[in-house]
Amino acid sequence: REKILEIKDLSITFLQGKEETRVVDSIRFDVHKGEVLGIVGESGCGKSVTSLSIMGLLPKKTSKLSGEILFQGKDLLKLNEKSLRKLRGNELAMVFQEPMTSLNPLFKIGNQLEESLRVHLSLTKKQAKERAIQILKLVGLPRPEELYGEYPHQLSGGMRQRVMIAMAMICDPKVLIADEPTTALDVTIQAQILKLMKDLNKKMETSIVFITHDLGVVAEMCDRVMVMYAGQVVEEGSVKTIFKNPKHPYTRGLMKSVPDIRKKNERLYSISGQVPRPGTVQTGCLFAGRCEYAMAECVKHSPPLYKLQDSHQSRCFLAREEALEHDEAFA
Ligand code: SF4
Ligand code: MG
Repeated sequence: REKILEIKDLSITFLQGKEETRVVDSIRFDVHKGEVLGIVGESGCGKSVTSLSIMGLLPKKTSKLSGEILFQGKDLLKLNEKSLRKLRGNELAMVFQEPMTSLNPLFKIGNQLEESLRVHLSLTKKQAKERAIQILKLVGLPRPEELYGEYPHQLSGGMRQRVMIAMAMICDPKVLIADEPTTALDVTIQAQILKLMKDLNKKMETSIVFITHDLGVVAEMCDRVMVMYAGQVVEEGSVKTIFKNPKHPYTRGLMKSVPDIRKKNERLYSISGQVPRPGTVQTGCLFAGRCEYAMAECVKHSPPLYKLQDSHQSRCFLAREEALEHDEAFA
């Protein structure tokens, strides 16, 4: 399938005074047309920062990016703010976790939807209203004509998230980045929103980058998954492969810690130990301190990303035996 987004050796460093903290370390991945790619990891692993960098939303003064972010072959890191703004909301759209903070409380739903249409497509007021009502229907909102004239606070959390998705989808983007879009919602609503996004992905062929800490959501939503740990990609593969045959000890730990859906925010198991602080300079495998399989060499050398069968990759020495090749030198 056609590659729509290609991330090549992307590194992100935050600058604070004289201090530099590397939060994303040389990651590479592709997003194909019409697929749903999951990016999974605990908070602070670099997944949200990665998505903000694709949208061009990281503050220029305090962050340094290197590598390439190719959108349909064009490097987004080389575009100026004006061209980026043209892409944002039009070809590339994003939904966040907390819809109340992304909707403007002072404007009616309809005006907010029309706004993105008028910025990106030159529609008349009448055309914009028609399109807005059509999209409200598409995301499954009842009585769209009335909703059009209501304010965000008059809606439930689930409805607001549907409005956010409508706003993201209104210009028919090629890529939708969803950063924990259902985390703030209760379980039933969460399931409905996930189903909606999956339907939109099928119907409109929008590629989705789905960021989550929850592998259960990945199983439901994604075609492929990339697991991040401390700013690195530690495992990648199709959802089928990863669930059937997880290779990296971190991924296995995450699988054991799927949240108990009956008890919100409770986990059946959690991986002991702590993620190294971002920017920690550490030789060897970054997961070594928490890994129950750690060997002597794990603290001396950094494991490369081993390529396995079926486009599966794992950054762990345990994968060495069955690796077809690996893509970096040992450090
Ligand atoms: Fe564990 Fe070693 Fe694999 Fe790192 S390289 S995940 S420490 S076994
Ligand atoms: Mg986050």
